[in-house]
Amino acid sequence: MVVIGLGRFGTSIALELARRGTEVLAIDSRAKTVQALSGQITHIATADATDIEALRQLGVQDFYRAVVAIGSDLEASILTASLLVELEIDDIWAKAVSQQHGRILSRLGVHHVVLPEHDMGERVAHLVSGRMLDY
Ligand code: ATP
Repeated sequence: MVVIGLGRFGTSIALELARRGTEVLAIDSRAKTVQALSGQITHIATADATDIEALRQLGVQDFYRAVVAIGSDLEASILTASLLVELEIDDIWAKAVSQQHGRILSRLGVHHVVLPEHDMGERVAHLVSGRMLDY
């Protein structure tokens, strides 16, 4: 599994998968971020994921599944997702920061779009309303 973008969301995915024994290739464009995580993830690299040659050199095309965990930089998120589609990754996941962002990602060919704040808000609402029945 390839995890691109090691903010809070991407780091959490990469570390949890690594803990479960999944082979993870983690990529971030910030050397400091990569350095800070290098002891915890076996395959980790500093690279600009909007550069298809960089992705090819890292062997991203050999992975079945990838997740784009870049959020606030829309351009980087969209470009990276489109390159993963171009590399014919079978199962692409991507984080979106808004419904519109999510729609663009889906149209590009991303298979699963996740809206962390929105999705977690819904889950909390379910949990809270479940509790309210108890009182
Ligand atoms: P979170 O909420 O998960 O902390 P965020 O939405 O604030 O994340 P961003 O800051 O946009 O996320 O990006 C997450 C990570 O993606 C950052 O560590 C950033 O360095 C990395 N990133 C941004 N652009 C690229 C790129 N072109 N290639 C690789 N990594 C990138």
